[in-house]
Amino acid sequence: MNKAVYPGSFDPTTNGHLDIIKRAASFVDELVVGVLENPSKNPLFSTDERVEHIKMLTKDLNNVSVLPFFGLLSDFVKSVDAKMVIRGLRTVTDFEYEIQMALTNRSLNENLETLFIPTSAKFLYLSSSIVKEIAMFGGDISGMVPEILKGIIIDKFRK
Ligand code: ADP
Repeated sequence: MNKAVYPGSFDPTTNGHLDIIKRAASFVDELVVGVLENPSKNPLFSTDERVEHIKMLTKDLNNVSVLPFFGLLSDFVKSVDAKMVIRGLRTVTDFEYEIQMALTNRSLNENLETLFIPTSAKFLYLSSSIVKEIAMFGGDISGMVPEILKGIIIDKFRK
């Protein structure tokens, strides 16, 4: 069985992330979205909230599951019995970081392959940080994040 992990911070999930999730889910048997609990980052949304968001957004995709993880990605991939990691690629800057991560993960687990999916052109400049910056100053994030997350993000900044 072809089982893959799509890891990330997803703080918050953007339409760019959702596009990668849907495209990956269309060709793997099972996709586990791994939500990273990173103690060195100060996320806008807690790990539980980020997991809930993705569960809500993928409820109609029956081969997608969502789990939090902490620590090494290669360990998480092993723990869910997957052999493939999916990552989205936007720019050359992404590539430099991603190739380093892919090679590092492979050196930790030689059975692990990383598959890069190029972003859809309309999401090339879209990132969670851009969404947060715009939302923080009351800008319009329509089209950048799924409609059901829009209000949740705006409310978070109001608090
Ligand atoms: P991380 O902190 O691991 O980079 P992110 O949540 O920022 O987590 O991103 C998770 C994955 O989604 C990464 O592979 C990233 O390159 C990809 N990604 C982020 N934004 C986009 C986008 N707009 N289009 C395609 N892939 C994206």
